[in-house]
Amino acid sequence: MLIADPTYQGHRRWMNRALELAQSAGEAGEVPVGAVIVDSEGQAIASASNRKERDFDPTAHAEIIAIRAAGQALQNWHLNHCTLYVTLEPCPMCAGAIVQARLGLLVYGVDDPKTGAIRTVANIPDSACSNHRLQVIAGVMSSQCRQQLQTWFAQRRGRKKSALVQDADFSGRPRTDRDSTRTVIQIEEK
Ligand SMILES: [Zn+2]
Repeated sequence: MLIADPTYQGHRRWMNRALELAQSAGEAGEVPVGAVIVDSEGQAIASASNRKERDFDPTAHAEIIAIRAAGQALQNWHLNHCTLYVTLEPCPMCAGAIVQARLGLLVYGVDDPKTGAIRTVANIPDSACSNHRLQVIAGVMSSQCRQQLQTWFAQRRGRKKSALVQDADFSGRPRTDRDSTRTVIQIEEK
């Protein structure tokens, strides 16, 4: 896909919005992850950021909150005409919810070498437990998304001054299952 393609520019615009949401979550002490769901008309129907710490809720990931809000907005749990934008590759829980929602298209920023369940650590959408063929575009504004997470973790490390903090290394270890992925379109942005 060409970077100048209007569709692709649209993906970047929504990813920018997700980055803004992630930023505010980071400032509130959350791991900065933001998500936006856009309907078939190109209108944002749900926006969310990670609220795990604030809500004392391990399921309060940006994607889960956005999927719930989108269902309410549409009065329909089928999100097959919707696009979910999220700054970080979804975890197993969120990948499962995305499959359950029959999401039309997932667009995410940076791969998550720790818990990425779209392709990096696991591939839930293509696995035997998935009943939905998910379209995925990975790597949209990946450097900005990676930078945001790295900055946040570096600041937190600075505060904690602990050598034992095991924060995610978003420089990314080598992926072994990348070639096995069938549905992901990879964007290589410079
Ligand atoms: Zn998640």
